[in-house]
Amino acid sequence: MTQKLKYERPHIKKLESEMPTKFGAKTNFKPVKDIDGVPIDFLVKDYGSPLFVISEKTLRETFRSARKAFETRYPRVQFAWSYKTNYHGAVCRAYHQEGSWAEVVSGFEYEKALRNGVPGDKIIFNGPDKTEADLEKAIAHGSLIHIDHSEEFYTIVSLCDRMKEKPRVAIRVNMDTNVYPMWDRFGFNYENGQAQDILNKIMRSGKMDLVGLHCHIGTFMFSANAYGIAASKLANLAMSLKRKYNHSIRYIDLGGGFASQNTLKGSFLPGIDSNPGFDEYAEAISTALLNSELPSDNLPLLILETGRALIDDAGYLISSVIANKRTSTGKRITVLDVGVNSLFTSFWYDHKIIPAQDFTKHAEETTLYGPLCMNIDVIREHISLPLLNKGEKVVIHQVGAYNMTQWMQFITLRPAIVMVGLDGKSYLIRQAEEIDNVIGPERIPEHLSQFDL
Ligand SMILES: *Cc1c(COP(=O)(O)O)cnc(C)c1O
Repeated sequence: MTQKLKYERPHIKKLESEMPTKFGAKTNFKPVKDIDGVPIDFLVKDYGSPLFVISEKTLRETFRSARKAFETRYPRVQFAWSYKTNYHGAVCRAYHQEGSWAEVVSGFEYEKALRNGVPGDKIIFNGPDKTEADLEKAIAHGSLIHIDHSEEFYTIVSLCDRMKEKPRVAIRVNMDTNVYPMWDRFGFNYENGQAQDILNKIMRSGKMDLVGLHCHIGTFMFSANAYGIAASKLANLAMSLKRKYNHSIRYIDLGGGFASQNTLKGSFLPGIDSNPGFDEYAEAISTALLNSELPSDNLPLLILETGRALIDDAGYLISSVIANKRTSTGKRITVLDVGVNSLFTSFWYDHKIIPAQDFTKHAEETTLYGPLCMNIDVIREHISLPLLNKGEKVVIHQVGAYNMTQWMQFITLRPAIVMVGLDGKSYLIRQAEEIDNVIGPERIPEHLSQFDL
């Protein structure tokens, strides 16, 4: 008797072939030798490698195209720069010069916005962890406090009594926008009535000025339509406040989360071909608001807290080659001087990486590793690149969002950040760290101060 064969589901597997022909792939791209006219070699000579570079030109142009997409479709638009996306002073101030308010998610970021000179009433305070002291400060400065949970509501109630102030508040709403998994851990849920419930509490307390409704439905959202759904749901809440309390809110804030043009790992098409652009998001949001029951003669201000889609393209990371080697099976490895501790987003994106000098005609499938003594330190798993010699440079593209705030100090020091200005000059906006930045805050207990080896 023959045994029944085991069934195995068919599956499609990526072929790990190294070269399309025995001559390898052609290098059909050009080197990137400068950023806005400033040669990469000069930048490295002046500021070292690795080096983050921000293009002020791209930053401002991207901002203006986003603003135009919304302002041509909806009459009242306000951007608020998401500090956590990149909170270096020069970056924030460029957005503030463009007219952006500040959007912060912690006491630290709140203080940073104040020190950047943002007027208190132009700071939006989000996030689940606002301490009583943070809230007191925000109330005293007349900021826009976006309530995340009931505990926060009750803390504000007690501060109102103590401070004899009527703070300006909004609530954060989470909701089903047909995108899963749903982000339902922040704020109050729309579908199950939590949002309506807290709105009733705020209105009945009479202690706060309910000025807005906020949501932040996710990040790197591929669906522009999800924003249309979110805008409709917030408009419905606004209308129910109008009907029930004859109360008009002043703004609807749709948060951030627009996809940048980066390419997510595993996606079939490059991000620039597949991700929605500002026009698509703006169309979905403004159509939903204009088609809602909101009165056309008293439309609320539309606030956007866009982060990554505004700054990703403006950020570059220059890195130098440390060494080349081969894996046990012969695949080329190139080791760079920058690791995943500085380039957090390499876990999600296939960053575009281009050599910064002339190269030969033939490319080869390469893995780009960082310098950390850790197996996870992979900058690009598979990339077709020409041979890069020790000391040669690459330019990693679209790194402006999150890397310069989520970077970790691990076995080495964080690199400098330079801004290339509209005048074509380079400006140091954050020094490379020094060892004193790390050991300065350390304290040694007396009994560990001496040893004898
Ligand atoms: C992080 C965050 C943003 C910015 O999100 P992006 O995905 O970078 O656009 C905006 N609003 C809130 C509340 C956030 O937490």
